[in-house]
Amino acid sequence: MSTPPALNIPPSPSTVTVSIINTTISVPFPVSLVLNPVIGVQRLRSFGINPTIEKDVPEILEEGGLDLKEVNAVIWSHHHWDHTGDVSKFPSTTELVVGPGTSKMWPGYPANPESLLLESDYKDRPTREITFDQSPTGLKIGRFPALDYFGDGSFYLLDAPGHAIGHMCALARTTATPSTFIFMGGDTCRHMGELRPSLYLPLPTTLSPSPLFPPKTAYTTSCPADLFLSLHPSGSATEPFYTLALDKKRESLVCVDVGEAKQTMEGAREVDAGEGVLVVMAHDASLSGVVECWPATANGWMEKGWKTEGRWRFLADFVGDDGGDARL
Ligand SMILES: [Zn+2]
Repeated sequence: MSTPPALNIPPSPSTVTVSIINTTISVPFPVSLVLNPVIGVQRLRSFGINPTIEKDVPEILEEGGLDLKEVNAVIWSHHHWDHTGDVSKFPSTTELVVGPGTSKMWPGYPANPESLLLESDYKDRPTREITFDQSPTGLKIGRFPALDYFGDGSFYLLDAPGHAIGHMCALARTTATPSTFIFMGGDTCRHMGELRPSLYLPLPTTLSPSPLFPPKTAYTTSCPADLFLSLHPSGSATEPFYTLALDKKRESLVCVDVGEAKQTMEGAREVDAGEGVLVVMAHDASLSGVVECWPATANGWMEKGWKTEGRWRFLADFVGDDGGDARL
């Protein structure tokens, strides 16, 4: 196992309260359109996105007891429709914070009938586009240029380009002693098999708890990793299962810049290697049932063992019987 480069997170006694929201969105999508190779039971289905959304985020927040007037800002990881929610449902005092270059895509629909963004998301409300200090002396967390959002070391926005224009990740300090963090990865990857295993986080010979048991029932179980290694495209315990599917022009359906996306992914692997950081990607369905969602808080993740329990659960997708449509 290799040691990852130091993340160099500045020390701070300040924390933020974090809740993970189950947005109730489900996007069935043929894995092989965006990822290589086809593994195990996963197979190509006909093209088509048929998302289902039970509730919008503002509704979920209100149901959990939050008055939307208390929301100072909504921060988009990026502008894609499955990540923005309906900002118009927040009071006009709520600021919309976006990543570098996002505002260049405005005006949105209907002012620009071709736009995939909505004018109602940003019109008549304060907006702020983040810029990152890219100079050699600028703040960096791991390899990511960073912005100390509250100025007290509790919450950082991270410049994480590649997937979309202005794509950002975030790092929240969840406890001060010991220092623990949640890395919010947005769409850095679509399936945890793109991230793991890695040089820093090899697939162990025995998986404990076993990813084949339902969450919260498997604490004392284990299973040999051979079954999954035999499904790995190169049989490697130190390389991820998936790589991006590229077309003849070496372009990807899910990245605006493949080179930058790979850099961002490598940065996420370095973060993922630390025992003190829980990595939560927006579409990581494998954490369902492992983490507690809003209105519960996620700050006690380490004490509750969520990282240990969730780390290899994605492997169950390769041997399940759901017919191969990933939930992105
Ligand atoms: Zn996206």
